[in-house]
Amino acid sequence: MAMEFEKDTLDALAKALREVEKGFASLPGWGARAPGLERMPEVMQQVAERLQDNYPYFHPLYAGQMLKPPHPIARAAYALATWINPNNHALDGGRASSAMEREAVAEIAGMFGWKTHLGHLTSGGTMANLEALWAAGRLDPGKKIAASAQAHYTHHRIASVLGLPFVEIPADARGRMDMQALAARLASGEIGCVVATVGTTGAGSIDPLPEILMLRDRHHFRLHVDAAYGGYFSLAGNLTAETREAFDLIGQANSIVVDPHKHGLQPYGCGCVLFSDPGVGALYKHDSPYTYFTSAELHLGEISLECSRPGASAVALWATQRLLPIEPGGEFARGLEACREAALSLAKRLDGDSRWLVPFPPELDIVVWAPRAASVRLVSELSHRIFDAAARRGLHLALIHLPLSYFPAIQPDSTETHDTVLCLRSVLMKPEHREWVDRILVILDAAFEEVRGR
Ligand SMILES: *Cc1c(COP(=O)(O)O)cnc(C)c1O
Repeated sequence: MAMEFEKDTLDALAKALREVEKGFASLPGWGARAPGLERMPEVMQQVAERLQDNYPYFHPLYAGQMLKPPHPIARAAYALATWINPNNHALDGGRASSAMEREAVAEIAGMFGWKTHLGHLTSGGTMANLEALWAAGRLDPGKKIAASAQAHYTHHRIASVLGLPFVEIPADARGRMDMQALAARLASGEIGCVVATVGTTGAGSIDPLPEILMLRDRHHFRLHVDAAYGGYFSLAGNLTAETREAFDLIGQANSIVVDPHKHGLQPYGCGCVLFSDPGVGALYKHDSPYTYFTSAELHLGEISLECSRPGASAVALWATQRLLPIEPGGEFARGLEACREAALSLAKRLDGDSRWLVPFPPELDIVVWAPRAASVRLVSELSHRIFDAAARRGLHLALIHLPLSYFPAIQPDSTETHDTVLCLRSVLMKPEHREWVDRILVILDAAFEEVRGR
């Protein structure tokens, strides 16, 4: 049976559109017609053909990068909102969608135990992190931003955009920030903000929050938690005790970033930044001559660095959270648990197979591993060829350069000076992956044998 896209979204959309229309029924018709509509079928045909040129990100056999299909309700609600096209820059640009943004964001804050907060949606994790580091820089001028070598590369770039000095803290053999190295840097008093990554983009590693918080008691830095990828796993009931402890401490941070467009079932264009202290809002103060006419309340446009923002994103997120509340034990949480089970199962099967090296068990739903071979160069070559051979067989994995320190079993030969090795990586972020691990392994096995046979 060939795959088919879900299409009920289209009926739900048409029905809801007629409903929205009723809210504006008192307006006189104006017979507007968009130009060029008669050529639309022809151009849509071209669009459809162009879109065929993609990896099947939506399918369980796409198990490579961080790509997850939005929930049908997010798609439908987003599209529905575009008929109004609200702008959440200011309340008079999007009344309903601004209220929906506040409600949805408060629910995300609630996931970390926050009853008060300041926060809003952004175009993604990059902008959300930028706002958090911008606030840190404003509050502690001249101090440095510290993040681990496995933190998302965006932090280094953001620091340079903001003109803030940046310190990279080495990571340990599990991809977590090294606490001795952090303590040594903190002793100098130069660091104003530590970025802890809860779920690194590479391997889903969790920086040790309990130790970082102990250091904060002594050194008084701001703690920013980048949980762009991992944040929603706070709801999962099947984390290890160590990982759970870190998640339970996220609420101690001064700021948090979570990307609803990573694990929150949203289309791209949806990040979220949260501050524990609503007083941070004062930093955003400006006197715009253009907008804000309708309310004395703090507008979302007054607490965001981005000006125009899609109200549709807020509508989509709100709708998704109505359908699938973000709460432990719920359907949404079970989806995340299934992803983690998929990763545990894949890692266990690979670890029990002498052809592969698995450096550590996954903390979330990302598995990294390498083919066993006699040198760093050979491991890297094999990884690349297996990646290609798997793709030819319809299984899409990812490649990642990992520190050699993760793999004591890989011995560099005397001519090799690398400190990283090219490995395979699989982000199992669809709940369906749990049922697809066997099929994934069959293809991986065939790819390995094809490459080895050559
Ligand atoms: C994805 C990611 C980012 C960047 O977010 P975008 O939404 O891609 O801009 C930052 N940090 C982490 C940990 C991420 O996984």
